[in-house]
Amino acid sequence: MANRKYIVGNWKMNGLRAQLSDIAAIAAIAANHDDADVGICPPVTLITAAVQANPDFAIGAQDCHFAESGAHTGCLSAVMLKEAGASYSILGHSERRADQQEGDAEVKAKAEAVRAAGMGVIICVGETEEERDAGQAIEIVTVQLARSFPAGASADWLTIAYEPIWAIGTGRVPEVSDVAEMHAAIRVKLGELMGQGSDAVRILYGGSMNGSNAAELLAVPNVDGGLVGGASLTAAKFAPIIEAAAEA
Ligand code: PEP
Repeated sequence: MANRKYIVGNWKMNGLRAQLSDIAAIAAIAANHDDADVGICPPVTLITAAVQANPDFAIGAQDCHFAESGAHTGCLSAVMLKEAGASYSILGHSERRADQQEGDAEVKAKAEAVRAAGMGVIICVGETEEERDAGQAIEIVTVQLARSFPAGASADWLTIAYEPIWAIGTGRVPEVSDVAEMHAAIRVKLGELMGQGSDAVRILYGGSMNGSNAAELLAVPNVDGGLVGGASLTAAKFAPIIEAAAEA
């Protein structure tokens, strides 16, 4: 049986209080499309206000420290994010892996900390263009997944996002056959890593998903939803993706 589609907007370092109205509009569209799950991960500064204004809508964080507290200037722990209102967090995004030199072991530790706080986890994996051109994409991504994989994983709190790095924010999208091949390989690896229950772990596609290509991408076997950057920033751009997911 196909998994219920899940669409998550990653706002990255975008959004001031003026954009809370976009979150409210997106939450209203999501409420009218209850055949799919929808969420937004705004900057931390908007989490509490977004949750207070839209209590039934899933607001998440974009990162988290692996420690519960301590001497980590500028960082936020899972319990802090939970207290702020986040119910899940994106982890291991390629921008953090590149900008903050996050490695797989750190992503795994973060995932376990987020889970321990009772939140959901979205782990991102993906290859560079050079790795794809060299025919290494599947090996790179499945090894990254295995090394980032949290202990005790279960589909009710873990989601994987396949995000080819060269497709993020570029307007370029892989061939549908390449997406299908990668998602199938991730599904097989999930089976090896967790055995029973792995089929229910949702695997999102991320990288330049938009209102024009969402239906085609969401129809690919093992594509259980999307992680969306640029096209999630306004309700007008995000709505057709939510609609495509609800109809998929
Ligand atoms: C992302 O950064 O997670 C992402 C998918 O961005 P975009 O949709 O803008 O490519």
